[in-house]
Amino acid sequence: MKIHARLLTGKICEVEVEGHFFKKITPLKKEILDLPWIAPSLVDIQINGFAGVDFNRPIASDDAWHHAAHQLYAHGCTGFLIALITNREEGYRRLLTDLTGRIHLDPRNCLGFHLEGPWLNPDPGYRGAHRAEWMQKPDPRLLEEWSGIAGHLLKLVTLAPEVDPKAALSVIRAAAKKKIRVFLGHSAVMGETLAQAVEAGAAGWTHLGNAVPATVPKFENVIFHALAQSELMISLIPDGLHLPPHAFRVMAKVLARAHPPRLLLTTDAMAGAGVGKAGTYTLGELEVKVGRDGSARLPTAGVPAAGESGPGRLAGSTLTPFDGAFLAERMAGIFLEEAWDAFSTRPASLLGFEHGLAVGNSADFCLLSPEKTPYLLATYHRGKCVYEAP
Ligand SMILES: [Zn+2]
Repeated sequence: MKIHARLLTGKICEVEVEGHFFKKITPLKKEILDLPWIAPSLVDIQINGFAGVDFNRPIASDDAWHHAAHQLYAHGCTGFLIALITNREEGYRRLLTDLTGRIHLDPRNCLGFHLEGPWLNPDPGYRGAHRAEWMQKPDPRLLEEWSGIAGHLLKLVTLAPEVDPKAALSVIRAAAKKKIRVFLGHSAVMGETLAQAVEAGAAGWTHLGNAVPATVPKFENVIFHALAQSELMISLIPDGLHLPPHAFRVMAKVLARAHPPRLLLTTDAMAGAGVGKAGTYTLGELEVKVGRDGSARLPTAGVPAAGESGPGRLAGSTLTPFDGAFLAERMAGIFLEEAWDAFSTRPASLLGFEHGLAVGNSADFCLLSPEKTPYLLATYHRGKCVYEAP
């Protein structure tokens, strides 16, 4: 198969795909109008649920699993990590066992797991929508057990080292040996403990700016400390709700233009994402209301949001990966290819695989319509068309 298309940099090329891989990519000199754009497909490291399917509950049927995977294809995503939020030990055991079985049978675009919890900071300002009573201190024994269930599918763990710095360091070191990435998040860690966690191998920070108290000291806060740790990759949620546009703009620009770039984008999508309808959804045992503005929040009457008034806490987002890349570009005032890299090749290389339009790589890509604000024409995964716009 040969495709003529325009890269996000504006250059025109002929892309040849043979079997599952890119065989040849040839720049073309001539100008051809109205060519589609071609870009590496999107990789999302934090998907709690999608298209009405909640990954934090046992999945009802094979059809539900296929539906969620296909809808992620329909939003440009050929690789995602299931995010499992704080749960009871047996809850993790059950979900990991069930989902690992499904992924082994039929992985589609699922790359594995991101455990967001239970080793988070239970303080009301940092716990976000997670249940404090299920949180616990980092525990290498549990890491061993859970990676025993999920094997190589356990890819990423988010933890808060300050809860027990010594135990956290041993989890981070044990994870590094197993090639599991560790991110910090839902955490108040700063200063020396932060530096030690990075030294031990912590590679990133999960959705910086969220799961942070509403008021913090102006300089001594986790946002500045994480930004200043230049080894840390940092994920942001570009839905305009998790971070107000001005805060997103500053952080995304600084991170996208660092050398090397440190920006990662994720949707943190929950079951209401990709549905396009307000209503009540679940996130594990939590009930989440999706409003007309697209926000996904705990009902105020539900788990109390201590110290907060007004609407309940955000509990994931309804953002889709494809929309997220464009919103990030617009909010941050960066080039589309900068936002796109942060949502495709960069998370892929963090997870340890080669991704992008290069000879020998798996042919995973999106074709976009040639308009100024393009829509998704098609998604290809391992050289096969897995979604085509109606
Ligand atoms: Zn979170």
